[in-house]
Amino acid sequence: MKYVIANWKMYQGTRGGAALVRAMLRAYRGKTDLPEVVVCPGFLAIGELQKVLSRSRVKLGAQDAFWEDDGAHTGSVGPSMLKDAGCEYVILGHSERRAEFGETNEMVSKKVGAALRASLRVVLCVGADIEGPLRGSLEGVLRKDVGRLLVVYEPEGAISSQGRGAEDLEKVLEAFAKIRAVLKDLFNGAVSVPLLYGGSVDGENAYTYLREDAIDGVLVGSASVKIHHITDIIGAALRAMNPRGL
Ligand code: PEP
Repeated sequence: MKYVIANWKMYQGTRGGAALVRAMLRAYRGKTDLPEVVVCPGFLAIGELQKVLSRSRVKLGAQDAFWEDDGAHTGSVGPSMLKDAGCEYVILGHSERRAEFGETNEMVSKKVGAALRASLRVVLCVGADIEGPLRGSLEGVLRKDVGRLLVVYEPEGAISSQGRGAEDLEKVLEAFAKIRAVLKDLFNGAVSVPLLYGGSVDGENAYTYLREDAIDGVLVGSASVKIHHITDIIGAALRAMNPRGL
């Protein structure tokens, strides 16, 4: 199984977002062996997209969640609220939130714990500095909950082509080896956690990553709101899953 997770960031609102997912669903209508496609819009679009996606196999996710489920937290959205609205996934620890809102590993670990308790699948992002953030963000996570975790390697310089563009495949594979070693150490043995790459993935380079057995999927930002890119990326995942079929 390959994952294609679309992080819409702040690029799409409700109406444009609904039109985009309708176009995406049309492009793959009738295909039975799709990858796990997850759309993560801004909070305001979640309700409408839940209706559009309800009879499809495309899943809904959020771009963040608070570490409390309810209470006096003006402006925050708790994980159970997301679950209630139809989300199955939540992205946590994204480098943009770490940089813009000063999210620390400790804050991310509280969010991870709360999201897991709400039965969401956590898409945990780590940047170029792997070991500290991974250990810190997973503090307190129990082995029994590891099945709901995905880890994304997103080197900051590769995000939205700030600088050098997408990361070389070799470096991604080296980073994955480090992530696997840390996970093995943290959870006292090998664990089955999907590892994804994120950073300037688009319709042209997606297959380079997705065809690798070691790469379970991609987290896509800017290109995920462009219909031709996202359909090509899903097509690349399909091709990687069925090399002889397409
Ligand atoms: C992201 O923000 O998660 C991301 C991968 O962005 P982009 O694809 O735009 O580099």
